[in-house]
Amino acid sequence: MRSENFSSGAASPKGRDDAHQVLLVSGLTKEFDVKQNGRRLKLHAVSDVSFEIAAGQTFALVGESGCGKSTVGRTILRLLEPTAGEVFLDGANVTSASSKQLKGLRRNMQMIFQDPYSSLDPRSRIIDCIREPLLIQGLHKQGVDPTERAISLMHRVGLSLEHAFRFPHEFSGGQRQRIGLARALALNPALIVCDEPVSALDVSIQAQVINLMREAQRDFGLAYLFISHDMGVVRLISNMVGVMYLGKLVECGPTDVIFGDPLHPYTQALLSAVPRIGGNKDAQITLKGDQPSAIFPPSGCPFHPRCSRAISRCSTAAPTMSRLNDGRLISCHVSGVN
Ligand code: SF4
Repeated sequence: MRSENFSSGAASPKGRDDAHQVLLVSGLTKEFDVKQNGRRLKLHAVSDVSFEIAAGQTFALVGESGCGKSTVGRTILRLLEPTAGEVFLDGANVTSASSKQLKGLRRNMQMIFQDPYSSLDPRSRIIDCIREPLLIQGLHKQGVDPTERAISLMHRVGLSLEHAFRFPHEFSGGQRQRIGLARALALNPALIVCDEPVSALDVSIQAQVINLMREAQRDFGLAYLFISHDMGVVRLISNMVGVMYLGKLVECGPTDVIFGDPLHPYTQALLSAVPRIGGNKDAQITLKGDQPSAIFPPSGCPFHPRCSRAISRCSTAAPTMSRLNDGRLISCHVSGVN
């Protein structure tokens, strides 16, 4: 059964229409073929994930390492081919696009990586790294001056002209992430997939990069898919949150609703681990065991072997997403039943 979509709601960004839907993800599924002890098996990385993002909004995907959140981001951009489901960007079907069509669509969707160094050519000067997407997309043939645009973007992210002719290794992690943002903004995309963009940075530098991202979002009406395991950062930047466990969305809704009153036992455990001034250490929920294998996911609710609220039905029947009165979606037999 296809899960219900979570809609990000209205937005009032500059430069794009109010509530303009930028991204629609429907039933996205990604399986990998793996071999184990000579047997061919399927690794269920992402299963039936659905959500929407409007212009000017940030949808955060959260969950433990290995839950499939980065695979969702890469599959949306078709850096990985989906096994099933559909992705629409500004109404265009990304999943069925030919390679030629995909090149055009990529102009409208960009990515920022955790380690921007890996996405920058170490032999290219910074100005060339930022100019590159403009040249690949042929914008220089359409009256855009790539050098002028690259310099303007460098200023926008707080870099000066003297940085233009330096190489990536000459910059700090925070400066490289500014370069990554400038490069992502070069083509004026509608969507940026941000995969753990500040996880490797010091807290003070994280705040600077997040502020830059917010400013760019406000000015250009960007939609962000923000992938992170850091719930503190997610609370700061996102409008909506989707919590993933073992490849599936288990709870999804407005950030203030989810953080204010998490209902799914897994969300409760994730949020209980966020340090708070004056918080009660005893209230922290420690999950039993490790995340199960995505090759052999547990029957019924995939969270049942670790869930303190599990009932007998949880090990045999998979819960489906239902919408609650407060607008969130939740997949649980016990929690949040209206
Ligand atoms: Fe826990 Fe059952 Fe809800 Fe799964 S369905 S989260 S096992 S209570």
